[in-house]
Amino acid sequence: MGKLIKIINITKLMKLKTGLRIVGSDDEIKIGGIDNPVIKDPLTGLPYIPGSSLKGVLRSSLEIARGKEEVCSCGECIICKIFGKANNKETENLRSHTRIIVRDSFLTEKSKMILNEILPFGVEIKKENSIDRIKGTSTSLRTFDRIPAGCEFEINLALKIFEEDKDKEEDLLNALNLAFKLVEYNYIGSGGSRGYGQVTFTELKYEEFDVAKKVKELSIDRGNL
Ligand SMILES: [Zn+2]
Repeated sequence: MGKLIKIINITKLMKLKTGLRIVGSDDEIKIGGIDNPVIKDPLTGLPYIPGSSLKGVLRSSLEIARGKEEVCSCGECIICKIFGKANNKETENLRSHTRIIVRDSFLTEKSKMILNEILPFGVEIKKENSIDRIKGTSTSLRTFDRIPAGCEFEINLALKIFEEDKDKEEDLLNALNLAFKLVEYNYIGSGGSRGYGQVTFTELKYEEFDVAKKVKELSIDRGNL
């Protein structure tokens, strides 16, 4: 890969067009309570979007577009270059090739204020019938919570550019932009086929940190440090 020469920091605003459900593990299901509640930040009690969830959906959108049924582990294609190659025993000890870092996303201050006024727990509670597919009758009422439409999250991600990527930076960025576009036409979280999780992204900030220049200035490359 060569030296790390640049880190591109991208901030986007993600707006929910429909209610969103990103749930934790099934261990959290409580009988008589909400079926598998949405993930919340333990400090604020408000919902957030784990970086791993967003990273997963960005990657799988590209994999599906390319006709891949499983996560690619070639280590050479642009998807592996951005998102890293799927783990296997042989490469376990090699330094990670993942170029992207997707941070956890939190509600914007404006959305927090609105939510605090109308929904103190940051989620709406929704009851849905589950349908018996053979008889066509409704069998049981399940209770879900979801983050309401209109909420906005700030998305932060970083893309690392190495020496070997010098001529491919634009390709990496184009692939990443395509992934975001595909997610807009698809959904995130669960219940997508029932209309949940439709989102739009708007770019807020694009910053480049010139690592190579900084390293040169500080003479780190000459072994003074
Ligand atoms: Zn690959």
